[in-house]
Formats: sequence, structure tokens, C-alpha cells
Amino acid sequence: MAYQTTNPYTNEVVKTYEDATPEYVETSLAQAQALYKKWRNDPVATRIPVLRKLAQIFKDETDSLAKVLTVDMGKLFVEAQGEVLLCAEIADYYADHAEDLLKPRAIETIAGEAQLENHPLGVLMAVEPWNFPYYQMMRIFAPNFAVGDPIVFKHAAITPASALAFEDAVRRAGAPAGSLTNLFLSYDQVSQVVADKRVQGVALTGSERGGVAVAEVAGKYLKKNTMELGGTDAFIVAHDANMDDVKAVAPRARLYNAGQVCTSSKRFIVTENHYDEFLESLKAAFSSVKMGDPMDPETTLAPVNSKKAKEHLQEQVDTALAGGATAYYVHEPIDSDGQFFMPTILTDITKDNPAYGKEMFGPVAQVYKVKDDEEAIALANDSDYGLGGIVFAGSAEYGAELASRIETGMVFVNTFFSSLPELEFGGVKKSGFGRELGQTGISSFVNQELVVKRDRPNDNEFGGLVLPHKF
Ligand code: NAP
Repeated sequence: MAYQTTNPYTNEVVKTYEDATPEYVETSLAQAQALYKKWRNDPVATRIPVLRKLAQIFKDETDSLAKVLTVDMGKLFVEAQGEVLLCAEIADYYADHAEDLLKPRAIETIAGEAQLENHPLGVLMAVEPWNFPYYQMMRIFAPNFAVGDPIVFKHAAITPASALAFEDAVRRAGAPAGSLTNLFLSYDQVSQVVADKRVQGVALTGSERGGVAVAEVAGKYLKKNTMELGGTDAFIVAHDANMDDVKAVAPRARLYNAGQVCTSSKRFIVTENHYDEFLESLKAAFSSVKMGDPMDPETTLAPVNSKKAKEHLQEQVDTALAGGATAYYVHEPIDSDGQFFMPTILTDITKDNPAYGKEMFGPVAQVYKVKDDEEAIALANDSDYGLGGIVFAGSAEYGAELASRIETGMVFVNTFFSSLPELEFGGVKKSGFGRELGQTGISSFVNQELVVKRDRPNDNEFGGLVLPHKF
């Protein structure tokens, strides 16, 4: 049984869960397919009240829902509360805007009266990660529920309680059976579900490794898919950056969610005039964290999600050091059995270091010194990934100029990276393809059906793909 909650702060095995039986998988897919057929004829407006109620549940039950996250994967309770409230915002956003975002778009054409209609595509398979167990689900659920695409999902093996709590909230919001079904699937079963002819789309958020495996199956069976994968996001400190602002934002950009965010700033690229000052301030911030019980409001840094994750990160740091990197700072060890990773600052990572370009998923900052802003952009782009990024520069305009030159999916200038319902989320290169949230997010799994109408044929009036001959 792979699905298990082990509290990473106490190491207590809280609960294990049985894998889904083949019969349950079949029943779930059949139910989802039947719902799709029904939803095909129901207007978007009929589903909006459920999204409103779901948002209300997340607002009314913030603390109890947040606690599930903290126990499942260790995040600070205060951060878990924030995640729950963001979920409410996403549900409310699509309740407010889905009808407008999905309304038919008229097309001016000589072919006739034309419009592009947005219809549901069919049943979707979602595969989601543990780092934001509800938010990742809401990103995919709220827009696609509005569209009319039922979802079956596989959540991460270490966050089963969050998966069930989310599914339960959706049920209590009044969503019809089959709208969203949690399946505790093995990897082989995921492939079988993706291959199933009732499934029309696949959305995965996770690592490059997981993305490659699932996208391969989706490709084989010609299933439309979106891949939201990892990153090595750059945080550029340009030559004219305001260092007070940089110092306020940089530690949070690395340590939020114990550094386990796809868009965490993983590479700080600092112009040489600011380098020493930057390192000193980052060290001061990293040494002042308070590790402890994630439920305690005084705690500022949570454990990482599991023993396995901690060991993997340690291996990555060891590899970097063996490859010639310098440990500029490592927090002194603390007396706890929790899965805490000591905040670490690495410098002198050269291109030939095996750790160069690797995503480190935890409280480890890589800091690079560059001569000027040109070199900063070149280094930022020297990555296989391109998910997010932050630029600090002397003015918003100059920062935006630099931002536009970064090969990445999202950049924030002179501010903290944030995810909001109206902002498209996604990356390029090995960070994946497709976007969630915003207008693009709700368009990912719709059948954009073109309907052209007129009263009589007009085949003599225009070119295009019309046979020249009359029969
Ligand atoms: P992961 O190992 O790829 O897991 C993500 C999900 O994929 C889990 O449900 C996992 O199941 C499943 N999975 C993995 N391999 C699979 C396979 N061969 N077949 C079927 N399912 C498979 O990723 P992670 O390490 O848990 O999550 C952290 C990664 O996600 C980081 O790289 C992070 O940057 C990325 N991320 C990206 C975004 C984004 O929006 N771009 C957001 C959050 C996180 P199991 O748990 O059972 O292995």
C-alpha cells in the first residue's frame, strides 16, 4: 500500500490506505463518462452555485482543512491556512468569470455566420503533487468543473488525507457524483486510465520525471495534456536594484513552504556590486529561522515533506560540494527528529559541477556572482527549465525589459512571486507546457467547436477549400 500519511514533524504513521480496486476504477470512469454526457447539454451557469459553495466551505473550514495539510506534508499551519484561502479565491474567481470566459466567440468571415463555441471535452485524468495538495487540485478542478469536464485524479502517495478532504469538500458543495473522484492508483493504473477511451485529457503537475512518464502514455494514446513541471527559477539582482527590497523578499522567495515550491527562487544571480551585501543578508535571514512544530505560530521554517525528500536533498548538496561548490552557510543542527533540512547557502557552483542546473527542492539557496545585467540574463537562460523568475531592478520599466529577455513562463519584477486565480501559471522548456488558471487555464480542456451557418450554400463566392468543379 503506497498511500500513507506520515507526519514529517513527529514521524508518526497516521494512516495507510488501500489502493483502488480495478472495479472501483471502472465504476468511477463509467460514472464520470455518464456525467460528461449529461453536462454536454447543461449550460455553464448550472454548475456555478457549486463553485460558490465550495469557496464558502474553504472559507468556513479554513483551520480544519489546513490542519490536514500540515499533518500530511508538514507545511506551517499559517501557510496551510493561506493555501486554503487561495483555494476559495480560485473557486470564487471561476464562479464569477467562467460564463464570460466560456461564451462563444463570434468570428468575422466570408464563409457565413461563424462562432467558436466552448464545449466540454470529456473526462480528465489529473495527477497532482504533495507540495500544495489543495491548491494544485483547485487549479485543475474549478475551471474544468465550470467547463463541464468530470475529473478522476491521482494525488501524491504521501498526501492521501488531503486528497480525500478535497474530494469530500467538493461532494459537500453539491457537485454531482462523478464530478471529481479520488483514485489511489499505482503508476501502472495511471497509465491504464490515461489509455482508457473515455478519458480525453490529462493534466499533470509534478517533476520532470513524472511528467515524462505520464506525457509518454498520453502521447501514445493521443490524449491532450498539460504538464506543469519543475524549475530552477532565477532571482536576478540587477546593478541598480534597491537592496532593502531585495533583502526583504529574497529569503521568503527561497524559504516559503520550506523551499518546496516549483517557483521558489532556486538560483540567486547577483551583480558583483551587490554580491557581498546580498550574501551577508541572506545568511542573516537563514540563521534567524525558527524550526519547530509547524502548528506553532512562532515556527518560521517547517520540516520538508518526508525522510526520503530530506535524504535526496542532502545527496544533492553533497554532490554540489564534492563538485567544487562552497557551503557559504549551513544552519547549525537542531535537536529534533522531525525531517528538518538545515538552511544552506551554496556559492561557487561552476558549469561543470554535476549540481549545476539541478532543481533543489528545499531550503537551499544557490548564489551566483555576475559582472553585469547582461551576464545575469545569460546565466538565467542557461537552464533546461523555464518556469518562473523574479527580477529586482532600479525601476519597474527596466526590470520588465530584463524580464522579457528571460526564457521562462512567468516573471515578477520588484516583488514577490505570487499565484492568483486570474494569472496564467505555467512554463516552457522542461518546466512543461500548457497553462493553468486565468483565461488560458479554463481553455485547456475545451472542445473549441467551430459552427458556421448560413441559409444557402455559397460555394461560388469564396476561395478556400472548396472544390472548383460542379457535379
Ligand atoms: P513527482 O514525483 O513527479 O510526483 C507528482 C505526481 O506524479 C504524484 O502524484 C506522483 O505519484 C505522480 N507520478 C510520479 N511518477 C509517476 C509515474 N511514472 N506514473 C504516474 N504517476 C507518477 O513530483 P514531486 O517530486 O512529488 O513534486 C515536486 C515537483 O513538482 C517539483 O519538481 C516541482 O517543481 C514540481 N511542481 C511543479 C508545479 C507547476 O505548477 N509547474 C507545481 C508544483 C510542483 P507518487 O506520489 O505516487 O509518486
